Amino acid sequence: MISFYPGPSRVHDAIPRYVADAHRAGIMSINHRSKTFVTMSQKIVTLLKDRLRIPRNYTILYTGSATECWEIIAQSLIREGSAHVYNGAFGEKWYQYTHRLHPGVQAYPFEVGRALNIDQLAITGRPDLVCITHNETSNGTAVSMKSLRALRKQLPHSLLAVDATSSMAGVNLDFRSADIWFASVQKCFGLPAGLGLMICSPAAVERARQINDQRYYNSMPFMLDMMEKFQTPFTPNVLNLYLLSRVLEKMPDIREVDATTVKRYDQWMTFLGRLQHLHHLVDNPKVHSQTVIPLQAEPGYIQAVKEKAAKHNILLGEGYGAWKATTLRIANFPAIKAGEIRLLQSFLKDF
Ligand SMILES: *Cc1c(COP(=O)(O)O)cnc(C)c1O
Repeated sequence: MISFYPGPSRVHDAIPRYVADAHRAGIMSINHRSKTFVTMSQKIVTLLKDRLRIPRNYTILYTGSATECWEIIAQSLIREGSAHVYNGAFGEKWYQYTHRLHPGVQAYPFEVGRALNIDQLAITGRPDLVCITHNETSNGTAVSMKSLRALRKQLPHSLLAVDATSSMAGVNLDFRSADIWFASVQKCFGLPAGLGLMICSPAAVERARQINDQRYYNSMPFMLDMMEKFQTPFTPNVLNLYLLSRVLEKMPDIREVDATTVKRYDQWMTFLGRLQHLHHLVDNPKVHSQTVIPLQAEPGYIQAVKEKAAKHNILLGEGYGAWKATTLRIANFPAIKAGEIRLLQSFLKDF
C-alpha cells in the first residue's frame, strides 16, 4: 500500500533497515541515562539544528506527541491566558485543550481561504502567549512567515507558539520568528508515530523558569534540567530517537528539501488544473499549504475515488471534520517518492 495519508504517513524506505540496525546494536535496550544514549541525543540536537537551520541558542525537548506539546505549553508557559489564532480543526483543538486548563484563553478564528490579517484580529489585552497553527492539516492552508513576524511585532510582550506538526522538516521555517515550535515525527519527518519535538527560544526557556511549574512529569523546568544533560525526565521513545538520528544524517539541508516540496506542490497544482471533477478545497493559492493538498468533489465521486484507489493499493487521506464527505487529502511529504506521485496522478487522470 502506498500511503498519501497526511499523518501517520509514509515512512522512509530505509526505516526497516534502521530498525534492524537498532536491534543489532542493542539500541532497543539501552538505558536512557547511559553514555550511549547521551551521545545519540547530543548528535540528534546537533543534526536537527544543522539540517533544519534552528538557531544555536534554541533548546530542543523530546515529547511524546504534538498533543502533549499543547498541554506542556498550557501548563508551563501560561499564567493567565493565551490568544489562539486558527482557521481549522487542529488550531481549534489546541484552543480547547488550553481552555480546559485556563478559562481565560481567547479564540480568534479567521476565515479559511483568507490570508491572515493581523490588524483585523484585534487581539485584546496582553496574552502570555499567542498560539497559531502554521500548517492546518485539516484544510490544507498555511500561515506565512511574514504573518508570524507581523504577529510578533504587534504583540511584543507575548510569546509566540507555533504548531508546525505537518510542515516541520518539509518546508523551511524561520525559527527566529517565533518562540516555541513543535511537531510530531509521523508527518514530514517520515518516521513512525510516538515522538514529538518542541523547540524553544531563550525567551520561552526564561518564561518556563519564571513560572516554574513543577506539578507534572513533563513540566518544562524538569525537561529543561534534564535536557542540559541531553536527557528526559521519563524514559523516552529511544528507538524512534535512533531512527530520527539516522533519517537526519541522510537529510539534505532544509532549503533543498523545501525546494523539492514547493516544486512538487506546483506540479500538483498544474496537474489539478487539468482535472474536471477534483479541485483544491481552497481557491486562493496564496494561503495553500505546500505539504497537505485537500481535494474537493461531490461526495459520491470522493467515495468512489477513495475506494478504487484502495484497490490499486493507494491510500488517500480522509477529509477532516466538516469536509469528511466532500474532500480527500494528499500528503506532499518528503518520504513520498516521485514515482509514487506519478502513479497516483495517472490513476486520478484516468478515473
Ligand atoms: C497531526 C497533528 C497534530 C496532532 O499530532 P499528534 O502527534 O497526534 O499529537 C497536531 N497539530 C497538527 C497541525 C497536526 O497536523
